[in-house]
Amino acid sequence: MCGIIGYVGNKEAKQILINGLLRLEYRGYDSAGIATVSPDNVLNIVKNKGRIKDLMENKNIDSLKGTVGIGHTRWATHGIPSETNSHPHVDQDKLFTVVHNGIIENYALLKDMLIKAGYNFYSQTDTEVVPNLINYNLKKEKDQSLESVLHAIKVTCDELEGSYALEILSPLIPNYLIVTRRNSPLIIGSGHGENYVSSDIPAILSYTNNFYLLDNNEYAVITNNSVEFYNESLTKIEKEVRNIAWDMSAAEKEGFDDYMLKEIFEQPKSIRETIGSRLLNGKTNLPDFEISEEKLKEINKIYIIACGTAMHAGLACKRLYEHLLGIETVVEVASEFRYKDPLVDDKTLCIFVSQSGETADTIAALRLAKENGATTIAITNVISSSITREADYTLYTHAGPEIAVASTKAYTAQIILLTILAINLSETLHMNLVLGTQLKQELVEIPSKVEKILSNIEPIKNFASEVYKETDSFFIGRLEDYAAALEGSLKLKEISYIHSEAYPAGELKHGPIALIEDNVTIIGLITNPLTAPKTLSNVEEVLTRGAKALVITNQIVDQSKFDLVYTIPEISEYLSPVLSVIPLQLFAYYISKEKGLDVDKPRNLAKSVTVE
Ligand code: GLU
Repeated sequence: MCGIIGYVGNKEAKQILINGLLRLEYRGYDSAGIATVSPDNVLNIVKNKGRIKDLMENKNIDSLKGTVGIGHTRWATHGIPSETNSHPHVDQDKLFTVVHNGIIENYALLKDMLIKAGYNFYSQTDTEVVPNLINYNLKKEKDQSLESVLHAIKVTCDELEGSYALEILSPLIPNYLIVTRRNSPLIIGSGHGENYVSSDIPAILSYTNNFYLLDNNEYAVITNNSVEFYNESLTKIEKEVRNIAWDMSAAEKEGFDDYMLKEIFEQPKSIRETIGSRLLNGKTNLPDFEISEEKLKEINKIYIIACGTAMHAGLACKRLYEHLLGIETVVEVASEFRYKDPLVDDKTLCIFVSQSGETADTIAALRLAKENGATTIAITNVISSSITREADYTLYTHAGPEIAVASTKAYTAQIILLTILAINLSETLHMNLVLGTQLKQELVEIPSKVEKILSNIEPIKNFASEVYKETDSFFIGRLEDYAAALEGSLKLKEISYIHSEAYPAGELKHGPIALIEDNVTIIGLITNPLTAPKTLSNVEEVLTRGAKALVITNQIVDQSKFDLVYTIPEISEYLSPVLSVIPLQLFAYYISKEKGLDVDKPRNLAKSVTVE
């Protein structure tokens, strides 16, 4: 995820682009850049690693002359944050300069093809194929007119797989800006004698309230006083300008009240992007992780090591690793692992999960595992974070920046990636391929199942408004449902400050049931047909002692017995936490809202725990 901005008008573009980027910085902040075309038709690009403030202090910033320009603030997905990998990117002949938000999933294939055709590349990004492919396709056109350039861009986009919002600037057509999008956001702001492009509305809300919304696979050709729209086959289409009278801070969160809610709703996208091109032709595809069958056969123990929510993602996947690979898998809290003199040697595979890649305890645990000779894999959301520099291999969740302190979309992306990794290992070992195949099919279906849950939030919201004054809650479940219960309970603690416990459902009778009375809420997770009857009985046991009960299930349950039965789509038990956690995230969110708390910045907590 990143922020993109564009301007075509009658004023100097530079400052307008910088102002826009400053407002888009929440979308990405590892590097930034701007390109303008100056009145004498020269392309200027200034970019650097770091934040917008560093770009403003860049010694070349004043070279950005001209009234047409594009800007980018990056959240790297392919290629470390560096000046070279920063956007804008250009083709080898500097005919096209491009900023991109998204992931070109088939970039490796396209890059190969272009290299064979004689093209040179300078960066590690997926984006750099785009300007070069436009250049390549333009050569097949009859000339270099606007019409031909537009056609070359269309042909290029037809060849791209993945997601993109693109702005394209070219000295061949110096007064024009061409933009297009597929599954990444892009809007156009309309002014007097000037037009704007942005990833979101607030970045340009101080300039205009009039917007055009571009749909997937549409193109816009923009000058200072015109915006022309084309559909995917380049037939001209008309669009109505919309007047949006938004309050600025609401708009920054794309209309959501808080970042947490926005991030909960981003999960279909973050899951889709995390899967990306990792499932290809019926197999898993992890080009950054190549472990030999020989080496893998020697592994006799797997550790998944993490803290907090990331540790819960590990717990959700423990049984899957054991069943798919037949290797004992232990999930450890990083701060415990590092002090317990663990049994780790060169036959151990250690997987470290950290959203930020900066979690101090997880990094310390990684160092210990390496000292003992283990093979190490980092799973993180932040390109080039500290953990990636020390692990043998790194796999990235592509969840985009997570701003809210309580993690939501990173958790589900971690489970998705851990699952893909488990299937990949089983393919290398030629083990349990039938289960692997079933899971690959289920993974692809998850985003739409999450969408389905997100379209039915009212029952959870209403239940939260009934119980938000209660002082204690218990989350119970068995197996993967217990793992999801732990995460649901943590969310509630983090943002609502309600005392909350998670128990394996069968354990309730061994003590905690003594605490059940009128002001207690019980949340039962029931998604595994094997254990469903048992857990249902456990929920009933506490009901008779006065608690209010929410049941989250995909099994057949007598609705009349419980305060709320919330049904989620069917899914393999191994992946069920990805779905059952969504209502739990929403439950915690709405409780916190009812209590009037600051959802995004809960007391005493920090986003990334870089202290021990
Ligand atoms: N995939 C592109 C890159 O890594 C764009 C990432 C973004 O959306 O910021 O450079």
